[in-house]
Amino acid sequence: MLENVRIILVNTSHTGNIGSAARAMKTMGLSQLVLVDPVKPPDEQSIALAAGATDILTNLKIVPTLADAIADCALVVGASARSRTLVWPMLDPRQMGERLATDANKGTVALVFGRERTGLTNEELQQCHYHVNIPANPEYSSLNVAMAVQTLSYEIRMSWLAQQETGAQVDDDSDYPPQASMELFFQHLEKTLYQTQFLHSDRSGHVMMRLRRMFTRMRPDSNELNILRGILTSIQKPPRNS
Ligand code: SAH
Repeated sequence: MLENVRIILVNTSHTGNIGSAARAMKTMGLSQLVLVDPVKPPDEQSIALAAGATDILTNLKIVPTLADAIADCALVVGASARSRTLVWPMLDPRQMGERLATDANKGTVALVFGRERTGLTNEELQQCHYHVNIPANPEYSSLNVAMAVQTLSYEIRMSWLAQQETGAQVDDDSDYPPQASMELFFQHLEKTLYQTQFLHSDRSGHVMMRLRRMFTRMRPDSNELNILRGILTSIQKPPRNS
């Protein structure tokens, strides 16, 4: 199960943080690290700070965009230092640990961390099902990214240990689509809404953000997503009898 938890670092500036994150992960039994467009690839400094967790550095993957990193994930949670203008479904760290530990029994799940200086962009945050915030000192709430990895990985581990003890298994046998299918759905939806001229103005970005949030919150399973895609296709086709 723990090998199904993917830690994603977006556009990291300091290679030392990549090493520290690897160390934090390994102490909690996590092993899958993906870097999205790192400013510099892992180097000597990463290896030094990984302190023996070099296997995680050796096996990490580097991809150009967050969409690539989460394409095969059925659940994506973004770690966010502060609540922004973007209001999104939130989990506290404990709930996040439970959700990821449960869903990781079925497939790959992702926990996403942002840039040291600026965190995650709104566009990146909108690709997540949930956001998780570590309720730190409100006057000084931003953790070093590797420390945030440590804290949240610990919560995942605690939930996993609890599952081992109780033998708890997944009670939800729904099959959720990978994030790549959700992205295709959102593109299809936007295209259709332009065709019907429901979308046309400058505010279309805002409407799409709300629709994205709504469908993300609903979390359609794979069958439901197929139905939605079918509805869009039927709207795009001219009526048969006229
Ligand atoms: N000034 C940036 C801070 C980035 S800290 C900002 O306000 O967004 C780097 C990353 O560490 C964040 O993107 C987030 O993924 C994680 N992080 C830091 N502090 C956190 C907190 N209190 N809760 C959740 N994630 C946090």
